[in-house]
Amino acid sequence: MHDVIIVGAGLSGLTAARQLTNAGMDVLVLEARDRVGGRNEGGHLSDGTPVELGGQWVGPTQDAVLTLIRELGLETFQVYNDGRSMLRLDRELHYAEDDTFGLPRSSVTAFRRVLAQIESLAQSIDLADPGQTPDAAALDRVTADAWIREQTADPVVRRFYDTMLATIFAADTDEFSLLHLLFYIKSGGGLGRLMATLDGAQDSRVAGGTHRISEEMAAALGARVQLKSPVRRIRCRESVVDVEFDGGSASARRLIVALPPVLAGRLVYDPPMPANRDSLTQQMPAGTVIKFQVGYARPFWRETGLNGAVLNLDTSVGLVYDNCVPGTSRGVLVAFIEGAHARHANELTSVQRRNLVLSELEQFFGPEAAQPTDFLERNWSEEEFTRGCYGGRLGTGLWTRLGKSLREPVGLIHWAGAETSEIWNGYMDGAVRSGQRTATEVLAALATADSAI
Ligand SMILES: Cc1cc2nc3c(=O)[nH]c(=O)nc-3n(C[C@H](O)[C@H](O)[C@H](O)COP(=O)(O)OP(=O)(O)OC[C@H]3O[C@@H](n4cnc5c(N)ncnc54)[C@H](O)[C@@H]3O)c2cc1C
Repeated sequence: MHDVIIVGAGLSGLTAARQLTNAGMDVLVLEARDRVGGRNEGGHLSDGTPVELGGQWVGPTQDAVLTLIRELGLETFQVYNDGRSMLRLDRELHYAEDDTFGLPRSSVTAFRRVLAQIESLAQSIDLADPGQTPDAAALDRVTADAWIREQTADPVVRRFYDTMLATIFAADTDEFSLLHLLFYIKSGGGLGRLMATLDGAQDSRVAGGTHRISEEMAAALGARVQLKSPVRRIRCRESVVDVEFDGGSASARRLIVALPPVLAGRLVYDPPMPANRDSLTQQMPAGTVIKFQVGYARPFWRETGLNGAVLNLDTSVGLVYDNCVPGTSRGVLVAFIEGAHARHANELTSVQRRNLVLSELEQFFGPEAAQPTDFLERNWSEEEFTRGCYGGRLGTGLWTRLGKSLREPVGLIHWAGAETSEIWNGYMDGAVRSGQRTATEVLAALATADSAI
């Protein structure tokens, strides 16, 4: 019998395991895949350049993950951002010289006004319990999409926020409530920070790739982490939890489920989950995103004064960044297809997706962009043990009706995962914080149980 079993060896589960092990607990981590890291996965170009197929950027104020990176002896490097970025609008490329993303002058005032409104409204959100925010019911009644349409009639500004928010949520603005939008924005320190490269959420990367954070933690945990062990069934007795996984079973005094909510809802619980908890996990789907890493002989776009960043308001590839690795010669562009565009791309073959992405990159950067040395894609909705990214979202009426069930332990079961964090919800930093929170919860619960004996 273990003290604690943890389901899932992503950042949240491994952080919890590390903290509990340091506190002297006997821990078992059960991971479904044949690797750790979950939504952080490493890949390589043909010359060995490391790239990330999942989460990749860290930035200022993400203190939990940055501290962890330092403690594990890993390093970060700042992304390349010299030169102009591009906005594609109505088949034309607009070059951005300032913080207006290249928007036409006629749309800048409305763009700034809506941004200020979002930032100001977000300040009112109660991060600990968004359902308790003043006016929560009203904020939760409308979709982000409907609210944006009320704020401006400018079609370009509407399209800008539709695309920009789809790049942040991997979902369309009619798929989440205004309350969810504002919660997420405040959780990450403001929309300006979420959109920004330098000094923002896209500021830096981890040398070697973010999956190394999980790999380092797993290496220290050794045999406590068991791969290829998908958990299927959880049975709670009075003071013991029994866990059945492919290939075996194990028992513990407490359980941490460190999965995205939608996957947590697919486990079989005995006794069944309380109605509100089950209802929540049925209605917190992840977004849809396909991520591409495209390698070139050299970063040719830099030669024409471009920093490699593109926000595309027209077609499938919503967002592109320079993703070169210092000390290597290859040029790398990272590209994303998100939301409705990704659902459409899900129906294409991988060859068709490759042709689509390369033809759009060619429209942004010219003919050289259609001649890559490497082309990697990861379709996160197809991944059996992730089923969508970047994280779970809540549609209208859900934070106010069911939000309480997101983190509240159920008997001996505690809930970790990026989606459960108050701070940097949905990001790697949030995942680490959620692991720390659940470890603290479990230690307190076990101390109380021990003192009662
Ligand atoms: C394409 C992409 C880009 C992203 N970009 C960024 C970024 O730039 N910056 C950032 O901060 N964040 C980013 N994110 C989000 C970030 O990666 C996640 O928030 C974070 O990694 C989530 O960690 P987690 O531990 O909560 O969940 P996960 O990483 O999902 O971990 C859950 C683990 O549980 C395992 N599992 C699933 N089912 C079972 C089961 N039944 N039994 C046992 N194990 C199971 C999974 O295999 C996985 O290892 C991105 C994500 C993606 C996919």
